[in-house]
Amino acid sequence: MKPMSDYVFPPPSIPSVAILHRSERFPVRRIFCVGRNYADHAREMGKDPDREPPFFFTKPADAVVDGDTTVPYPPLTRNLHHEVEVVVAIGTDGSDIVPADAGRHIFGYGVGIDLTRRDLQAQARDMGRPWDWAKAFDHSAPCGPLLPADGSPVLEQGSISLHVNGELRQQGDILDMIWGIPDIIALCSQSMRLKRGDLIFTGTPAGVGAVNVGDTLVGRVDGLPSLTVRIGAGNAS
Ligand code: MN
Repeated sequence: MKPMSDYVFPPPSIPSVAILHRSERFPVRRIFCVGRNYADHAREMGKDPDREPPFFFTKPADAVVDGDTTVPYPPLTRNLHHEVEVVVAIGTDGSDIVPADAGRHIFGYGVGIDLTRRDLQAQARDMGRPWDWAKAFDHSAPCGPLLPADGSPVLEQGSISLHVNGELRQQGDILDMIWGIPDIIALCSQSMRLKRGDLIFTGTPAGVGAVNVGDTLVGRVDGLPSLTVRIGAGNAS
């Protein structure tokens, strides 16, 4: 008998993000994140923004979740933090991209929240361990609908903010990124070939803080669809 499938069980579904006014979704391949990309946030984390070269970490593609959903409070933490970020969706492959060409590789932009188990991150830093357990947990990458770039100039300014239960917690401007979006794309593509489907979370402004079960988070970036996330009880699937 021929097997019904090449796989021992049905392959998992493709993680994806909604696209504004489109029924098709953006299939997610990888999630890259930039650490400490706004000077005021670097300072609040106890770092000198002038001395820190950019660095990246990753989340699994299936950590992405749509907006207007409830994210379960994750295990192993007592200090879950919000980090509102501009998300860049890559639409065209490229290696060693020069910043002036970066726009050609952008499919679109969204508002994301880099959910972080801050207590595990502090422990990892103190012990010289990787950040994965702090950053790369289930449901850790909420992302709102993407606004297609459609060849427009690369996003380089605009207000970015996050409210928790209606209270302003984070506010900044994309202009204040230490490394702008073209530089981030160029730097990331020096390390590995960027491929369509990749998402890049581009860092967060100051004001990160804890969220609790029952909180409603709203992330906003000028001109992009906003992102609303509710924090639900833990142990959900
Ligand atoms: Mn972040």
